[in-house]
Amino acid sequence: ESLVRTGADDVERAAEAALRPRRLEEFVGQRVVREQLSLVLEAARNRGRAPDHVLLSGPPGLGKTTLAMIIAAEMGASLRVTSGPAIQHAGDLAAVLSSLEEGEVLFIDEIHRLARPAEELLYVAMEDFRVDVVVGKGAGASAIPLALPPFTVVGATTRAGLLPAPLRDRFGFTGHLDFYDADELERVLVRSAGLLGVPLSHDAAAEIASRSRGTPRIANRLLRRVRDWAEVRGDGNLTLEAARAALTVYEVDERGLDRLDRAVLTALCTRFGGGPVGLTTLAVAVGEEPETVETVAEPFLFREGFVGRTPRGRIAMPPAWTHLGMSVPRDQGA
Ligand code: ADP
Repeated sequence: ESLVRTGADDVERAAEAALRPRRLEEFVGQRVVREQLSLVLEAARNRGRAPDHVLLSGPPGLGKTTLAMIIAAEMGASLRVTSGPAIQHAGDLAAVLSSLEEGEVLFIDEIHRLARPAEELLYVAMEDFRVDVVVGKGAGASAIPLALPPFTVVGATTRAGLLPAPLRDRFGFTGHLDFYDADELERVLVRSAGLLGVPLSHDAAAEIASRSRGTPRIANRLLRRVRDWAEVRGDGNLTLEAARAALTVYEVDERGLDRLDRAVLTALCTRFGGGPVGLTTLAVAVGEEPETVETVAEPFLFREGFVGRTPRGRIAMPPAWTHLGMSVPRDQGA
């Protein structure tokens, strides 16, 4: 089971990598972040120095990893990739840091999940370009300071607020990525279809865009599923009919809600009578980790006004009931 799962993830990852923009000018949307970042990079290039550390925040699939790769490419630097959960001990991070070459970009995904000791080591490395290497054990242990060449950390987090202030303060630039609008997603789709060499009609692109929850990763994934449908059941053309039929098969509804989103709304409305209910209880009810519900499903459900947040927990808003085909209880919602 886990082998099969890994295999499928690898295929998705490879498909995703093939569609990644390589340059800032190819990166669709996020006009503000793109302009700010291009200034940071150009100034660093002119000075012949590594750019300031960059923190990118925003829900999954909006382009944080892509931007990290672009930063390295635009600086002509190589990229090292790691993540908060992958670093078990401060020593693992010390090893990565002490092997960095001048100007390298170190991408730390899910940086909010770094363990405390690693986080503290990272502050010092980012601020003073120094890492203390501990040699020996117990009472005889000593720390030898090792100077590091200038390098750039690009951190990614689903919410900048999850980072402790001392770490957040070490980043010279923070870019917040927001959901994409339908026009931008259409541009992502047209670009991807071109790279994949598949014929995508304009109305099919609009249909897929409107069901992609404002997220390029989802847009690209749905595009591949529509292509599957078109090749197996259709004539190979990605038409509006193909798009609608494929998205029905994959249970993506007309608002772009998928199975998890609908499970959250259904639990909230039927099991908990519209709430308020705490995140953990809600996650257990849908059989997911709280972090998955919080970072994958909720940002979009909040933004679209399906779910509201109160001090006592999540509540169903009137659109949630309507979307599930239920009538809004009289005492519910704003
Ligand atoms: P994150 O790191 O935020 O989870 P990624 O950078 O991995 O997201 O992006 C997910 C996918 O979406 C990638 O395959 C990338 O090609 C695509 N993508 C993201 N942002 C853009 C964009 N602005 N323009 C074009 N494609 C994008």
